[in-house]
Amino acid sequence: MMKRFGQNFLLSTKLREKIADAVQVEPGMKVWEIGPGLGSISILLLERGAKLTAFEIDHGFCRVLRETAFRDEPDFELVEGDALKTIPERRDIPERICGNLPYNVGTVLLGDLMEGPRRPSRMVFTLQKEVVQRLCSPVNGPDWSVISIVCQMDYDVKPLFDLKPGCFYPEPNVTSTAALFTRREQSRVEPKLKNTFLMVVHDLFSQRRKTIKNNLLSGKCGGRLLKGGVEAMIQESGLEPTRRAEELNWDELNALTASFARLSASDPSDNT
Ligand code: SAM
Repeated sequence: MMKRFGQNFLLSTKLREKIADAVQVEPGMKVWEIGPGLGSISILLLERGAKLTAFEIDHGFCRVLRETAFRDEPDFELVEGDALKTIPERRDIPERICGNLPYNVGTVLLGDLMEGPRRPSRMVFTLQKEVVQRLCSPVNGPDWSVISIVCQMDYDVKPLFDLKPGCFYPEPNVTSTAALFTRREQSRVEPKLKNTFLMVVHDLFSQRRKTIKNNLLSGKCGGRLLKGGVEAMIQESGLEPTRRAEELNWDELNALTASFARLSASDPSDNT
């Protein structure tokens, strides 16, 4: 068992079933599972009719999955290696993604998925409880942060149920929560300004104690605008320059994005 890969196996059959049910697999559906371990959730997804692609970093587990557990399973595909590297290489988009991942990998992976083109209609991730609280944070709540905004711009995110340390072997030090991501019919962000929005948000939150003006000035926005541009951007948005990023709601973030787009020499590649 490798501590560095966050290998804690979900022992409870009931909870594994609950996770597989939450994924809502329909027969023939293309499903990705990140971190299958020895395949105890994979088998439930396959039973529900998934065409499953599993991404696993541990070569020992991969050998078991490939040579023993799913050797004769035509609907099981294994992608061996670090999912943070192997997923961006994929050209296809699944209909479902699920995973039970160590939180450091989980948050990076979620960020990559949300900012990239692979956004299926439904995803279920099991992560450290505190991380899920951040992902689901209401606007302006104490956990409102870049990852809450990045996850909620295109998805409704909600906690499903907690998994106590004793549900796993070996027991982790933390409680986990299964979280459901449902893609929104309409993004909270103007689709053609999405790259700009993400740049503005990353700048705004770069140093939590700083004002929005100072963060924008020292970030990419400041670098791309002419002198006085950041001040104009904030003024056009109707905001006080002394505000802090964590106080801003969707309308205010979108207003800043729109004024940046108007004021900047506008990046023509920004059309995602
Ligand atoms: N799905 C199994 C379960 O619920 O019992 C195992 C979950 S265990 C918490 C996390 C799994 O993710 C392990 O199998 C681990 O090897 C794998 N893993 C960790 N980091 C990974 C990465 N960067 N890419 C792919 N798999 C990874």
